[in-house]
Amino acid sequence: MSFDAEAKMQFLFALRSKGVTDKSVLSAMERIDRQAFIQGYFNDRAYEDMPLPIACGQTISQPSVVGIMTQALQIGPRDKVLEVGTGSGYQAAILALLARRVYTVDRHKRLVQTASKVFEQMELNNITAFTADGSFGLPDQAPFDRIIVTAAAEDPPGPLLAQLKIGGTMVVPVGQSDAVQHLIRVTRHESGFEYDELRSVRFVPLVEGLGKD
Ligand code: SAH
Repeated sequence: MSFDAEAKMQFLFALRSKGVTDKSVLSAMERIDRQAFIQGYFNDRAYEDMPLPIACGQTISQPSVVGIMTQALQIGPRDKVLEVGTGSGYQAAILALLARRVYTVDRHKRLVQTASKVFEQMELNNITAFTADGSFGLPDQAPFDRIIVTAAAEDPPGPLLAQLKIGGTMVVPVGQSDAVQHLIRVTRHESGFEYDELRSVRFVPLVEGLGKD
C-alpha cells in the first residue's frame, strides 16, 4: 500500500480522534510517509495507529503518541531539537519539518544507519543522527530549545535537563519499563523546572551504554 489519498485520510482521522489537533503537526504527519520507516514484515501496517516492531528489538512509536508528543513541544521554525531514541527515524523526520535543526541519537548503530538512509532519500538535510548513549545528551551541540525522549526513563536524565535552554521544553516518558509510564513535559524557567503530566504511555526503556549492533 502506498500513502494514497484514502490511507492518508484514515490515518489523519485516527490522529485527530486521539487528540492530535495542531495544524502544523498534522500537516507534517501528512507529508512524512510512515511506511518508509518500517522494513520487512510489518510494512503494510504502517498506517494503523499502533506501535510496530523494528530492528534491534525496538519499536516505532504509535503515530498518535508521536503526534501528541510533537504537539506538546510546540516547536518553532528556529528551534534546535534533540531527540533521544532515533529508532526508525519516523519521529525525527516529523521534527525536521517543524524545526530548524534536529539532532537524534540512538544506542544502536544499525538503527542510526538505516534511519539516516531514509533521511537522505527524503532530503531531510537538517537532521544529524549519531550513535551514542543519549542519556548524556549531546554536550557539543547543547543547549537545545526542545528535547524529546522516546524511551522511558525512571527520572528525567540530569544531563538532558542541563542541556535545555531557559524557556525550553522537554517531553519524556517517565516510569518503570514494565509498568504504565507517564508522559511528562518539563519547562525550564529562570527560577527552575516546571513539570506537568500529559497522559499515560508505554515505551521501551532507556538503556545505558551502546547496543551490540
Ligand atoms: N523515536 C523512535 C522510536 C524509538 S524506540 C521512532 O520514531 O521510531 C526507543 C529507542 O530508544 C530505541 O531505538 C532504543 O535503541 C533507543 N534507546 C534506548 N536507550 C537509549 C539511550 N540510552 N541512548 C540512545 N538511545 C536509546
